[in-house]
Amino acid sequence: MPSVAFYTLGCKVNFYDTEAMWQLFKQEGYEQVDFDATADVYIVNTCTVTNTGDKKSRQIIRRAVRRNPDAVIAVTGCYAQTSPAEILAIPGVDLVVGTQDREKLMSFIDQYQQERQPVNAVRNIMKTREFEELDVPDFAERTRAFLKIQEGCNNFCTFCIIPWSRGLSRSRSPESVLAQARQLVEAGYKEIVLTGIHTGGYGDDLEAYRLADLLEDLDKVDGLERIRISSIEASQIDERVIAVLNRSPKMCRHLHIPLQAGNDAVLKRMRRKYTTAEFAEKIRRLKEAMPGVAITTDVIVGFPGETEEMYREGYAFMEEIGFAEMHVFPYSKRTGTPAARMEDQVDEDVKHERVHQLIDLSERMQLDYARHHVGQVLDVIPERAHKGDEEAGMIMGYSGNYIQIVFEGSESLIGQLCQVRLTEAGVNECRGELVAVTESAPAQLRTASVV
Ligand code: SF4
Repeated sequence: MPSVAFYTLGCKVNFYDTEAMWQLFKQEGYEQVDFDATADVYIVNTCTVTNTGDKKSRQIIRRAVRRNPDAVIAVTGCYAQTSPAEILAIPGVDLVVGTQDREKLMSFIDQYQQERQPVNAVRNIMKTREFEELDVPDFAERTRAFLKIQEGCNNFCTFCIIPWSRGLSRSRSPESVLAQARQLVEAGYKEIVLTGIHTGGYGDDLEAYRLADLLEDLDKVDGLERIRISSIEASQIDERVIAVLNRSPKMCRHLHIPLQAGNDAVLKRMRRKYTTAEFAEKIRRLKEAMPGVAITTDVIVGFPGETEEMYREGYAFMEEIGFAEMHVFPYSKRTGTPAARMEDQVDEDVKHERVHQLIDLSERMQLDYARHHVGQVLDVIPERAHKGDEEAGMIMGYSGNYIQIVFEGSESLIGQLCQVRLTEAGVNECRGELVAVTESAPAQLRTASVV
């Protein structure tokens, strides 16, 4: 049986794409082996979001070549899309495919095996207007399925290379999304995470069908218990989206909304599509429509021109919003973007000091958010035995509002929708007690068996 090994760098979309590529190999009778084992084909799915992403991608490619110089070394993903020549210059690389044409991967591999000549299959992504259909009917993780609904981005934020590596925004057809959702539910998944590069832009290229319509239709899929949106831009949360979030019991009380900076001058230089006042207003509306909603975010610290005063103002803004968690990153120059050419770059030590302060703030807000839910009974889907606590029969899972809860229960509950009372708040992990296990049924008809 031929073997294939994968290495994925970067974001959730890349991980999804890797799963999709694995399906292609599986259909051809391949077995998947560990990346450090000897394989016939190595696939490195690269990232280019920072210059470090490029460097790390090159290291991994060289590792694959060293592991088995006779193997087919195929490089795909964002770095492959933006710099195919740089990658083909690495001795041992046989095939470069970017962020499209992955459905032709097997034929590119055949081509290489017959001709033994390096294949550069990268095409201009900016001309692509079609969503590439790649199905993932099952995942290594059994409790939560990712469903890619969109690709690319039209925003061109000044720090970001993504539109150049992923192309312009394009949506998967509603019929295809719904068919895949039904298939995932049939395979036993209770929760679907809608992913994309710019998920909120879903439908911008479709005729009169937007994200709100898709959410409405997904809400009607029988057996689907939870729908989570992986990330959505504040500027794309409109009243129709808020209405469906409010009305549907399946929509998770958790939204990840990237803020990036809490100061208007910085937001403008980043070319973000909102001001802090507009962002705050969106959050106010969401909290009104979905009481108790967890809002998590991304923040970039030390963007060029961010003064101490701007940073302080941003810190106060974030504290005022009261995020349930923040992912904090120091600004890192990405060659080829306008921000990398800006003159007033911030000193690295200053950036790191600010990152630490914001991580402390995030932990404080995370604990505050969890404390507000102590005593409440939350819907939790257990994912696995709790590491180190297997003997004690402890399992862990996430609530709809993304609180990680550890509680006593049998591993047979993994993948089931459970009612768990939160008993003790923590920063990353909380403790709880099992109250009931919900029978699988459409949300409106749910019954609970009390334990
Ligand atoms: S919205 Fe901005 S940061 Fe996000 S992918 Fe698009 S260009 Fe990049």
